[in-house]
Amino acid sequence: MGKGNTDAKDLKKSLFSNKKNAGLILKDDEIKKADKFCEKYKSFLDVSKTEREAVEYAIKSLEENGFKEYKAGMELNAGDKIYYNNRGKAVIASVIGSDPIENGINLCVAHIDSPRLDLKQCPVYEESELALFKTHYYGGIKKYQWAAIPLSLHGVIVKADNTKITINIGEEEGDPVFCVNDLLPHLAVDQMKRNLAEGIKGEELNILIGSRPFKDDEISEKVKLNILKILNEKYGIVEDDFISAEIEAVPAFKARDIGFDRSMIGAYGHDDRVCAYTTFQAILKCKNPKKTAMVVLADKEETGSDGNTGLRSAYLKYFIEDLAKGFGVEGRTVLSNSECLSADVNAAFDPTFPDVLEKRNAAYINYGVVVTKFTGSRGKAGTSDASAEFVGKIRKIFNENKIIWQTGELGRVDLGGGGTVAAYVANLDVDTIDVGVPVLSMHSPYEIVSKLDVYMAYKAFSAFMS
Ligand code: MN
Ligand code: MN
Repeated sequence: MGKGNTDAKDLKKSLFSNKKNAGLILKDDEIKKADKFCEKYKSFLDVSKTEREAVEYAIKSLEENGFKEYKAGMELNAGDKIYYNNRGKAVIASVIGSDPIENGINLCVAHIDSPRLDLKQCPVYEESELALFKTHYYGGIKKYQWAAIPLSLHGVIVKADNTKITINIGEEEGDPVFCVNDLLPHLAVDQMKRNLAEGIKGEELNILIGSRPFKDDEISEKVKLNILKILNEKYGIVEDDFISAEIEAVPAFKARDIGFDRSMIGAYGHDDRVCAYTTFQAILKCKNPKKTAMVVLADKEETGSDGNTGLRSAYLKYFIEDLAKGFGVEGRTVLSNSECLSADVNAAFDPTFPDVLEKRNAAYINYGVVVTKFTGSRGKAGTSDASAEFVGKIRKIFNENKIIWQTGELGRVDLGGGGTVAAYVANLDVDTIDVGVPVLSMHSPYEIVSKLDVYMAYKAFSAFMS
């Protein structure tokens, strides 16, 4: 009896998949390391709420770590560290390998834009003696989640004389914050009959910015006048300057620990700054790699990656072509031999909403970094679908480096779906696969990740690039 059981137990252990919670696998000192790593990640989140702020943070860190701005034609040698700033909204960082560049690049690509509310070009108005901003939402949001929460404003305004000013208000203790109003339940009988998608409609995402009138009995729009007067005194701007501005309203919350055990982090913009931060930390620490290592922090993923800072544009290809030319080889040869981790988040299984994921193929909080072979929707439409050979290669690297990892599929078949930048990189003839952190409440103003998963992502990207 006993013997048979032991045989079955051993057999099961050797044959069955054996995924475990990282909290059970990791030693206490490793858990401590993960928690410590995440303290810096939280600080990064608090100062990098937009793509522009993330680039600013990245370039400062790159320069402090000896990376030099790359100029086409620059002579490069193994171990050299370079970066490229694409219009202040995207950045490429690279460490030149000791292998010839035609052997290819180990590339990690993450995005630094997140869903938010953008101001319209003519945003300021007064209605019933309240001043408000009109907005146009950016990326996939559930609009009702953006009402009745504190918002901060970030961005730039280019004035008529083309001088540029930077705006960041609502983050410091003591700063005012802003807000989209919602209706009180007492009077929401009709609103409550709307479906969830229409709970708050696009043109109802108006941000309250003031209520006190300019003291004058003659003129109209006194509240708007008072607000524009304040803005003029503070920033030297007039109403028309909003035409050449990019101002983003984002949740004013700071990143905080979640849970009595402090095992998770709640914050705005984990998608995809969690992969941006971990890939970026990995390249900062990347010393003398064999293959050239590269990290791209891209913009515009949440709107489909179009535009000259998004990954459907040619800037990454041009950058690699310039590098290749410097070594006397063709850019296409380098690309065809390159491999890429498309570093982006995946949905974590949520016990409150179990039906949207197929639980045998879902990603779970604390089960490590998620490897997603394919994304897309319906019959895998829109996916680049990594090959078995490439999945095998990544699996081996992760196992050899003791990375805790899992697989994940974005949702039940035919339920919905989505994509990442993986397909755009793969379309350059690069072997590409999605690898990232599982997220709860993705695309909400307050997303949640596990600290152990964040740390495993960092270790995974480090292992891939070194
Ligand atoms: Mn993403
Ligand atoms: Mn996203």
